[in-house]
Amino acid sequence: MQQVRLNDGNTIPQLGFGVFKVDPAKTERIVSDALQVGYRHIDTAAIYRNEEGVGKAIAASGIPRDELFITTKLWNDRHGDADRAVEESLEKLGLDRVDLYLVHWPAPKQNRFIEAWHALEGIRERGLATSIGVSNFAKHYLERLLPEASTVPAVNQIELHPYYQQRETTELAAAHNIRIEAWGPLGQGKYPLLELDEITGPAAAHGKTPAQVVLRWHLQLGHIVFPKTVSRERMAENFNVFDFELSDDELAAITALERGGRVSEHPDDFD
Ligand code: NAD
Repeated sequence: MQQVRLNDGNTIPQLGFGVFKVDPAKTERIVSDALQVGYRHIDTAAIYRNEEGVGKAIAASGIPRDELFITTKLWNDRHGDADRAVEESLEKLGLDRVDLYLVHWPAPKQNRFIEAWHALEGIRERGLATSIGVSNFAKHYLERLLPEASTVPAVNQIELHPYYQQRETTELAAAHNIRIEAWGPLGQGKYPLLELDEITGPAAAHGKTPAQVVLRWHLQLGHIVFPKTVSRERMAENFNVFDFELSDDELAAITALERGGRVSEHPDDFD
């Protein structure tokens, strides 16, 4: 698996498996499937309520801890209580540390995300999270956070797919060596991305599927991705994206699809 280096010196597998909306009762089975397919990076969150299932799959897998990369996230109602929140997540996951812990949303009405960030800095110092980062921090939130931060976030996990690429935010992140994790990498299936000529053309040319082309576009732009599926076949399909390369023209045609096409909540309106 291709690894990318974070600004704190740690590495992360560039492709992982996301478990948003994976039924807690089925999570152990689905994550076990993903680990058998070969995924070693799992992205969960306290609010997904499936950390226990992720933990059971990890324990049952027998895979050495240092070969796994596990991310979880601090929910919005715990910005003043991150120390206890991370301990609860660790207990559910059955781990003594996560590889990456994120402030899930800035939650601007509460206006406590800087306090939450300082708590994450302490959590990292205590070794409960190897790396720390943020999620859904649009440019104006990063601009508020960075002058206050002792630790620059290692990643910013944001909605990003061909119709919605958040250039202002990705440019500011790049200037601070903050890696972009693209959530909803396939647009959450909410628009016919996989039927567009810009995607199906390269798919036919390379003998790959449209989803593989979209994931490849992300990887070649340097994004970290963790597409979600409950189907083992699609897990394997999404994992099999390292044996071809999109040309510069193919990449540019997909990048030109940008149209401000957000498919989920805007951080300004989400507490
Ligand atoms: P996604 O873009 O990964 O889309 C998932 C949808 O695509 C599912 O409906 C699935 O059936 C379909 N799909 C998956 N593989 C396919 C394939 N090969 N062919 C056709 N369709 C396919 O959206 P997502 O789940 O929202 O995002 C991925 C992960 O990002 C999540 O599981 C979660 O870990 C993370 N996430 C984070 C946030 C955040 O606020 N930080 C928000 C949403 C998601």
